[in-house]
Amino acid sequence: MRMDVRAPIFPFHMTTPTAARSARPAPRVTQALVGDGWRATGRTFDVRDPWDGSLVAQVTDANEQDARDAADHAVAAFERWSRTSAWERSAILRRWFDAILTHEGELAELMAREMGKPVTEARGEVKYAAGFVEFYAEEAKRIHGETIPSQFAHKRLHTNLKPVGPVYAITPWNFPAAMVTRKVAPALAAGCTVILKPAEATPLSALRLAELWLAAGGPAGTLQVLPCLDPIPVSQVLIHDPRIRKLTFTGSTEVGMRLYAQGATTMKRLSLELGGHAPFIVCADADVDAAVTQVVASKFRNAGQTCVCANRIYVHADIHDAFVARFLLAVQGLRVGDPLDPATQIGPLVNGEALAKVEEHVADARSGGARVLAGGASPGGSSYAPTVLTGVRGGMKILEEETFGPVAPIMAYTDEAEVIRAANNVPVGLAAYVWTRDLGRAYRMAESLAYGIVGINDGVPATPQAPFGGVKNSGLGREGGHWGLHEFLDVQYVSTVIG
Ligand code: NAD
Repeated sequence: MRMDVRAPIFPFHMTTPTAARSARPAPRVTQALVGDGWRATGRTFDVRDPWDGSLVAQVTDANEQDARDAADHAVAAFERWSRTSAWERSAILRRWFDAILTHEGELAELMAREMGKPVTEARGEVKYAAGFVEFYAEEAKRIHGETIPSQFAHKRLHTNLKPVGPVYAITPWNFPAAMVTRKVAPALAAGCTVILKPAEATPLSALRLAELWLAAGGPAGTLQVLPCLDPIPVSQVLIHDPRIRKLTFTGSTEVGMRLYAQGATTMKRLSLELGGHAPFIVCADADVDAAVTQVVASKFRNAGQTCVCANRIYVHADIHDAFVARFLLAVQGLRVGDPLDPATQIGPLVNGEALAKVEEHVADARSGGARVLAGGASPGGSSYAPTVLTGVRGGMKILEEETFGPVAPIMAYTDEAEVIRAANNVPVGLAAYVWTRDLGRAYRMAESLAYGIVGINDGVPATPQAPFGGVKNSGLGREGGHWGLHEFLDVQYVSTVIG
């Protein structure tokens, strides 16, 4: 089959002029939350809309003193919060869940403005974020130890599950609400208190979520938020404070590795949710139309800026051309544009640096002989057109680093063992996807893939009740489900001689 190699034209409408954007309601909260008070430090940093560069808000730039104060509050609040009943914590979490859903539209718009996620997709993230709060409101009541039989008639053995203590949580910009609740909800359910440092690009969603927590009855000091432009000074205070017992981080592998080493000095419990490089394998017997729909959903969600986005698409040679033809049609139908327009499917990349990385990866692939079948350029601003590449080969940057953009490299393969080897031949292991109608092959391939998450005929497997996390350089621990709760619990073993 001959490929259509015309450069597609993407609709690119400036639907919300800058004047109309700045006339939108100002974010309600822009100060740090320390204890139960909103605190200004005299210094602020700008949060800008990636669509047109307009100023969304000037946010308090928290400093080391704020971090020390927050640690004191977190320790004091832990004394009380850790002794509340699970029912009490559950009821407040449940009210928080309701409040988040009540403000779904407002939170989605805030997210669209601070990081460019299309508002319709952002509504989906708000629901997903609320889902963690709902799940852990329920799961709080199921924290229980065990009894263990003893070989001695005079002994009774049991375990208690105890909250680990005050927690320091660091979140990335690409899911400004869901990455917050995925950490904070299980921590609060377990009886921990949390100091949250959101990404510098997206402090507004985190602050508004914290305000809703207080409104839901969350006690002072249980959740505090320290927005800051430079993450290092505040983080150093909290990482080296021995009273903070847990560090939970979502972000890049590079930073995660650094924090892993730093956490050792105070023996922190650690959860690290880091980068990925997801293979998407379409077998010869796959339902091609379903696979195309799901690759599009996986690859182009959040303009390709997710840790579980398909990064390498391996298609069996027998169906390669048919797949590519249908994939191109689907990609050419995607609407790139203003994130505040409900019809937009692909918003701008988070900033110019993100755009430069995508451009570099595509230029590198092109210079190595890859063909650009769609996209391959920025239509303006920090947006990048959904791009399809074929003829991609080992050694190209796009196969070795996270592109974090809307670029789909497609490769043909012929042999199952060969494609598994290629899929596993990366230092990370977060999510992988397999498309097949053969149940035996599905099991075989899932078990052979060195990944924490495998989607079989499912391009969007993440859900609050299931474990999310990776192996190798993709991190440590799991978020979601009961696994996510146990990350915030210590096991205490009690042995009793009864006489
Ligand atoms: P990043 O590592 O640059 O930043 C993440 C967070 O760490 C931000 O809050 C940032 O301010 C903070 N940070 C950066 N340097 C720090 C330091 N030295 N000390 C303390 N804090 C520091 O990552 P990013 O660009 O915000 O996010 C994108 C990355 O996150 C990608 O690699 C993506 O795959 C990964 N990610 C992983 C998951 C997951 O669940 N595994 C989810 C979302 C994103």
